Formats: sequence, structure tokens, C-alpha cells
Amino acid sequence: MRLILLGPPGAGKGTQAKILLEAYGIPQLSTGDILRSAISARTPLGLEAKAVVDRGDLVSDAIVNGIVSERLDAEDCKPGFILDGFPRTIAQAEALDQILAEKGVRLDAVVEMTVNPDELVRRVIQRSKESDGARADDNEDVLRKRLGIYQEQTAPLVAYYRGKGLLKTVDGMEPVESVTAAIKAAIAQ
Ligand code: AMP
Repeated sequence: MRLILLGPPGAGKGTQAKILLEAYGIPQLSTGDILRSAISARTPLGLEAKAVVDRGDLVSDAIVNGIVSERLDAEDCKPGFILDGFPRTIAQAEALDQILAEKGVRLDAVVEMTVNPDELVRRVIQRSKESDGARADDNEDVLRKRLGIYQEQTAPLVAYYRGKGLLKTVDGMEPVESVTAAIKAAIAQ
């Protein structure tokens, strides 16, 4: 199963990816998580990305494409993977097409999770309280910027994947278990 979870910050991509990885026995590949661990470990990648991530901008396509391409070569990605937070631009989606073509594999589905903007803000503020401010980008100002970038740069992926016949849309406002069930049903179609 090769899956992309698509949706704005706070849509529940990470939550669902963690549930689905157990159900399908495939890894979650979150570019945000990879960048955050590089930042806390102060690797060269982390040092380069920190300011960009903290202010809510997108890290360059070259950097994230490289992260994903390398990660997909790992043995645990052979049976499949769940991409969470990548691709985020049309250029990244095109790069992913090329990466997958080179590896001789195809995506099975792209699941778009829709949640209304007020609820996104509520969830991210809640996440920041629960994590005790661990994510510098989970405050209201930076979040609004991230939502704007999502609308401008990531939302066009909905049409991109619809055009490829891969898009499934689920209502991310439902309780976690219902969203999981809806994703499983959409994938099984
Ligand atoms: P996330 O955990 O997916 O919300 O990502 C947190 C931050 O990491 C984003 O606001 C970006 O700064 C950076 N990031 C994560 N994934 C990507 C990506 N695919 N392209 C560019 N920047 C990314």
C-alpha cells in the first residue's frame, strides 16, 4: 500500500498515519518529523532548516525531495509507505512521480482530509498546549501563515491527483475512529 495523506496543518494526517501504519504494517514517512529530528539533533540539515521551519515557511523542494528519495530506499518501505506532509507543492509531486517511476512503483491512493479552518486553528493550539510549546511553529501567527501557504501551494495537489484518478476525500471533522474507517473504506474502493 503506497499512500499519501493530504491536508492542512491540524487535519489529522499524523494521527491517522500512526493508526494506519499499524493496520497495514507499513512505515509513516513524515518530512516534518524528519526535519524536526534533524533540528533537535543539530545535524547540518537541521541547522539549515531550523529558521525556515520555525517561521512556517516551506523548506526547499531540493531538500525535501532528497530526504524522501533516500528514505524510500530503506528496506521497510518495500511493502509500502504512508507519506504525511509530502508532497506539498506541484514541483514536489512531479519529483515524487519521477522518484517512484525510477523505483518502478506506483501510488495506490491520495487521501485528502478536509477540516474547516476554525477547527484547524483550535486543534493546533491544543496540540501546542499538550506538547508544552515543543513546536515553535505551532502558535497562532505562524499557523495562519502555514494555512495560507497550504492554500496557495499545496491545495493545487488536490486537482493534480484527481486528474490522475488517485484522489479520495474524507471528512476530517469526524471523530478519529470514523476518519480511520472512512480512509480504509476509500482505499478499498
Ligand atoms: P509538518 O509537520 O508536516 O506540519 O511540517 C512542519 C514544517 O516542516 C513545515 O511548516 C515546513 O517548514 C517543513 N516541511 C515539512 N514537510 C515539508 C515539505 N514537504 N516541503 C517543504 N517544507 C516541509
